[in-house]
Amino acid sequence: MTRTGRTLRARAPAFSYRESKKGLFRRSTGSILCCEDVPLSHLAERFDTPLYVYSATAIRERMRIFEHAFRKVPHTVCFSVKANSNLGILRLLAQVGCGFDIVSGGELQRVLRVDRHAAKQVVFSGVGKTAEEMTAALKAGIMLFNVESESELWVLAESAARLKQTAKIALRVNPDVRAETHPYISTGLHQHKFGIPISASRRIYAQASGIRSLKVAGVSVHIGSQITNVKPFGEAMLRVAELVRELRADGHRIDFVDAGGGLGIVYDQGNLPDFEGYVADYAEAVLRPLRGLKVHLLLEPGRSILGPAGALLTRVLYKKTNGTKKFLVVDAAMNDLLRPSLYNAYHEIAKVEWKDGSSLSETVDVVGPICETGDFFARARELPRSEEGDLLAILDAGAYGMALASNYNSRPRPAEALVDGNSAKVIRRRETMADLLRNEL
Ligand SMILES: *Cc1c(COP(=O)(O)O)cnc(C)c1O
Repeated sequence: MTRTGRTLRARAPAFSYRESKKGLFRRSTGSILCCEDVPLSHLAERFDTPLYVYSATAIRERMRIFEHAFRKVPHTVCFSVKANSNLGILRLLAQVGCGFDIVSGGELQRVLRVDRHAAKQVVFSGVGKTAEEMTAALKAGIMLFNVESESELWVLAESAARLKQTAKIALRVNPDVRAETHPYISTGLHQHKFGIPISASRRIYAQASGIRSLKVAGVSVHIGSQITNVKPFGEAMLRVAELVRELRADGHRIDFVDAGGGLGIVYDQGNLPDFEGYVADYAEAVLRPLRGLKVHLLLEPGRSILGPAGALLTRVLYKKTNGTKKFLVVDAAMNDLLRPSLYNAYHEIAKVEWKDGSSLSETVDVVGPICETGDFFARARELPRSEEGDLLAILDAGAYGMALASNYNSRPRPAEALVDGNSAKVIRRRETMADLLRNEL
């Protein structure tokens, strides 16, 4: 247990082992994985499995660390809603003063549902915004549109003109910076669909400034996701800073620099950096090139705020052996948490309950019930020995977990619970078959 135990301490306050005391004399009989003060086994009993569990304290703490790292410059942290769009999570973030980065009209509606006045801290990103989505965002009065193509600029200009408004815009420029991450979530190279080549951007800024319904207000970048080396962020900002100077020389008023999101987390066990120092390094990389520029900085973290604050709780349905391979078939599947199947992503898996003296381990594949070989959470993983009925927690599932869940194999999506200290509440009910069939004729 030492290895897993040590690693999990680094995830406190979200998830950590506590002594479990049972029996007449309440002597320690083992340890139990808790979310804050609530044993995960209690949550499984109350809310059933599979279940997403989030720690409110961890989310607030990670936001506080982000805010603190950038305290010396005017800035707004705009949580990337696509990482986790649950209303309960968004409400929690709004309460600590967070703004939001949205990529669809649906996400705008979620944000407005949480706080009618949140729009003034909303930035709208995405390569395929429709005129309807733009109109809704203009009516709501959002802070900034991150425009990703010339054509989009004209559609936005028309939408704004129709409403007799001016849309504040930044161009999302593509700095052609290589970020070492999974190819599906790297976005900052010229061959990617995102943004406008930085070399072409000056010309488009000039065009935009000639349109009455648009107001040039900033420069935006987002180079990808799950980037754990802070250097590429600094390189991107260097190019952005250079562009800001050129644009100002061209006569534009540049109030905002949007540094995007993308700061990665460490999914592997061991070697978890201290988040405070890591975010400080990130802030240093981003801020150094901007020194002296006098801009309002926007940040769009998603994963780094929510990832380690959430876990997917699942129960072992069956143990089976095929030849030399051992499998744990659990009640969660790729439809609930897609990251291992989609990106071959590693997620640490922790056994929820330990009995004193049990130290046996075994090498297993942890798989779901879906009819796909790609439906797995771990392959050839050494885990403490588990039996049918045991609970497992798949860690670091707070971002791009539930957000990517589907109904594949006609599986209703899991419930979500938010823990705060010793209290826990459902923030999304478990889907039912009636929910799934509602729209079918
Ligand atoms: C996905 C996305 C983010 C958030 O990325 P994380 O890796 O979760 O921090 C921020 N900005 C934009 C434009 C995005 O597409």
